[in-house]
Amino acid sequence: MPPRFDAIVIGSGITGGFAAKELTELGLRVLVLEAGGPVDPMTDYVEHVQPWEQPFRGWGDRARLEREQPVQKDCYACDEWSAKFFVNDLENPYTTPDGKPFSWIRGRQVGGRSITWGRQVYRWSDLDFEANARDGHGVDWPIRYRDIAPWYDHVERFIGVSGKPEGLDQLPDGQFLPPMEFNCAESHVRGKLLQAFSGERVLTIGRCAILTEDHNGRAACHYCGTCERGCVSLSYFSSLNATLPAAAKTGRLTLRPWSVVESILYDPPSRRATGVRVIDANTREVLEFKARIVFLCASTLESTRILLNSRSRDFADGLANSSGVLGRYLMDHHMGHGARGTIPGFEDHATYGRRPNGIYLVRFRNVKNQHPDFLRGYAFQGGAWRSGWDRGREMKGFGAAFKESLLREQGPWKMSLYGFGEMLPSAENYAELDPEVRDKWGIPALRIHCAYGDNEKAQWKDAIATATEMLEAAGAREIKPTDDDGTPGLVIHEMGTARMGRDPKTSVLNGWNQTWDVPNLFLTDGACMASTANQNPSITYMALTARACHHAVELMKRREL
Ligand SMILES: Cc1cc2nc3c(=O)[nH]c(=O)nc-3n(C[C@H](O)[C@H](O)[C@H](O)COP(=O)(O)OP(=O)(O)OC[C@H]3O[C@@H](n4cnc5c(N)ncnc54)[C@H](O)[C@@H]3O)c2cc1C
Ligand code: SF4
Repeated sequence: MPPRFDAIVIGSGITGGFAAKELTELGLRVLVLEAGGPVDPMTDYVEHVQPWEQPFRGWGDRARLEREQPVQKDCYACDEWSAKFFVNDLENPYTTPDGKPFSWIRGRQVGGRSITWGRQVYRWSDLDFEANARDGHGVDWPIRYRDIAPWYDHVERFIGVSGKPEGLDQLPDGQFLPPMEFNCAESHVRGKLLQAFSGERVLTIGRCAILTEDHNGRAACHYCGTCERGCVSLSYFSSLNATLPAAAKTGRLTLRPWSVVESILYDPPSRRATGVRVIDANTREVLEFKARIVFLCASTLESTRILLNSRSRDFADGLANSSGVLGRYLMDHHMGHGARGTIPGFEDHATYGRRPNGIYLVRFRNVKNQHPDFLRGYAFQGGAWRSGWDRGREMKGFGAAFKESLLREQGPWKMSLYGFGEMLPSAENYAELDPEVRDKWGIPALRIHCAYGDNEKAQWKDAIATATEMLEAAGAREIKPTDDDGTPGLVIHEMGTARMGRDPKTSVLNGWNQTWDVPNLFLTDGACMASTANQNPSITYMALTARACHHAVELMKRREL
């Protein structure tokens, strides 16, 4: 007899790991099904491996990348060290229409993309949760900040977030560990901006899921600076470093790697999901697992693909899709619009160590007054650094004199403001099953239709102008705009396609991340998002996941599930 489970969690990344922790700690026997293989931090993490220890000296095997990871290679983190934490694009295909590229960046292993993520974590506020209702784009969120605030607290206390409280309504403060320090140029720019813009434009230190002191059995960061390769001291949050071990500690976790979920099993008379159908990634054996509740946490587009592929007589267009909006309203952020310049002075100062974090310039557009050209807003990330080293591997030379020049001859301070902005929900951006293409395991691939619209383009223009004016106000010289128009998807904040809402006719999920149509089926990854705000989204996914888990267990206790 196969073992019986109370809950199945699909995916072991940021959201799946959290669901596993919460549900096991609440007393459930949980099966986590993960499509990729196991990762052993002791042997697979490579953050301390140096370029000269790598076969390609850090340049990567470019021929192999071009052949096997032509999409993934465009992600900055998919380098010679970390390429193994990104999918093989040949095995995991998807299609796009001509002229509408979409870069789908994925990780398929235990831990998902929590191993490679940038760890930037910012709370949403009611400026974000009320945005759809305010301007009529998208459906109204079924929750407000007060509903999620305690769950942000809950998540932050567990994962450890370093940050500086600023008391801003549009970017609520959280349960912070001590902030990382500004360098002297950043501190100078912060002061100048507060002065020049009457306190309206606030440059703070990045809020990040990296420990600045020992926390919950994990060690403080030692600033080695290459986090996307792993972290043997477990100093940044990943499911592998924190939530999965916490779930395992309960003794109620079963983690099954190499388990590609093909579809969700549905029982029409009871209107319940009964379990999932899995293809063993190595043997191709088809297996079925049963449980009382199912949590879909396979990442935005993968979860939607599983639902679209779970077809039955009752749900011919995909499970839980009575509304017809499953797959619709795909969004990403836009990024890269801003400016960089030289900050004169401070040449007797240098940085020490590699701070794995930058600055954050909080959204100031459409906070109090409406901008005439666009809705919603954007923020900037970036930072300041001593130039010289930034030419990296292209610097020429060798021997003692070269080494001496690297150490002694640093250039002036540079500063970059790199925009991250909100994308409006639009029915024209959607994902569907491709009628022909299948992945390595015979599962239909997605066809993704997505493009930025006029509102995003108006934000780009404004972000370049405001970044330039702010660097000018800070006394910067040689200011250059940055305007990488980018491909949607490449920000790796893909959201929507199974949105939350107040009305089952226009949304897939209710205010508890529970599918309207199948009450014991929950979806808590980015597919649930009804809008994008401009903040990096993963902490909101985690808070929604924890909240949904506690709600599900309440319902189980009341015998409603
Ligand atoms: C380089 C990089 C930088 C980033 N920086 C940030 C940042 O600074 N801040 C931020 O908020 N976000 C950031 N992100 C995004 C962040 O990683 C994602 O939002 C987050 O990981 C999503 O969590 P998830 O659980 O939905 O998906 P994932 O973490 O991707 O996990 C999904 C898991 O599901 C598994 N899976 C998929 N399909 C199936 C299937 N059919 N059956 C079984 N298992 C399946 C996958 O193998 C994977 O392990 C970054 C991402 C990358 C790659
Ligand atoms: S910089 Fe800190 S968090 Fe990043 S890998 Fe090094 S020790 Fe870990």
